[in-house]
Amino acid sequence: ESAASNQESIHYYKNGEDEAHLERLIMLDELKQAISDDDGQLFMTYQPKLHMVTQKIDKVESLIRWQRKDGSWVNPELFIDLAEQSGLIVELTAWVVNTVVSQVADWQNKGINLQAAINVSAQDIAFPGFHSALVRTLKKHNVAPSLITIELTERDMIENEEKGIKALQNLKEVGVKISLDDYGVGQTSLGRLKMLPIDELKLDKCFILKLDESQKDQFIVQSSITLGHQLGFSVVAEGVETLDSLNLLKEMKCDHAQGYYLSRPLKADLLEEWLKEYYEKN
Ligand code: C2E
Ligand code: MG
Ligand code: MG
Ligand code: MG
Repeated sequence: ESAASNQESIHYYKNGEDEAHLERLIMLDELKQAISDDDGQLFMTYQPKLHMVTQKIDKVESLIRWQRKDGSWVNPELFIDLAEQSGLIVELTAWVVNTVVSQVADWQNKGINLQAAINVSAQDIAFPGFHSALVRTLKKHNVAPSLITIELTERDMIENEEKGIKALQNLKEVGVKISLDDYGVGQTSLGRLKMLPIDELKLDKCFILKLDESQKDQFIVQSSITLGHQLGFSVVAEGVETLDSLNLLKEMKCDHAQGYYLSRPLKADLLEEWLKEYYEKN
């Protein structure tokens, strides 16, 4: 009897697995379709980064969103992960690069000077066509490479290390900026940090969210900012949710702040409205 119920639970468990697997396959198929149709299911949002000294918004981070045809939203971490595991990330990133670069061109034409960061994965950097596609897209839209920053996490940089570093150096050579995202939660040793061809250090939001309440976070953030500067990097804090945290970061000489205290990620037209209001007040 107990063997039978055991088998049954194994059976159910397997069924659950199959279902999850099937769900992923369906989602992957829909994602593929959404990329090729480009029918508005996928779109980019942009979150402002405040330059602490000038009080200007000179940069944004582009963040992808997916709303399926049935109206449901898919968490970006979930579908980015799916895209990475299936190799679809190369196509997805190509779509993102195109969309963001043409948006930056549009802003340039309107006299809005914004640099934009694009999140990419290890596979993108390892993909031989990534560099040439990016350069081609920049030329096509007449966008200066220095207006684009590539954001990579520590994990992405470590995977395929030598090839990856070479690819990043090649990007730097044409003038594209490189940012190390989610700094402080990955495995980057200081020895490795010193070797990475990066321009910007982006402190993970886990140290920033409660910065105004946690002395430990303040120590970590202050020393990371100092370290970043001494290594020649610009330092950004993500996850700034309160004025107190913003002020602390200013005192600590952090270069840029990004987070809900300023604004959530917005579609381009809403960001333009937000910018107008911001400059009316500041
Ligand atoms: P990330 O690059 O580290 O992006 C920062 C995340 O923090 C974003 O989540 C952003 O919306 C969120 N965030 C910003 N300010 C605050 C704040 O004040 N408080 C809190 N709690 N969160 C804040 P999102 O948009 O859900 O993206 C999650 C991750 O998905 C990103 O982490 C990035 O790794 C990935 N991702 C997003 N867009 C893209 C993309 O276009 N391409 C790729 N390859 N990955 C992307
Ligand atoms: Mg990022
Ligand atoms: Mg991050
Ligand atoms: Mg992240």
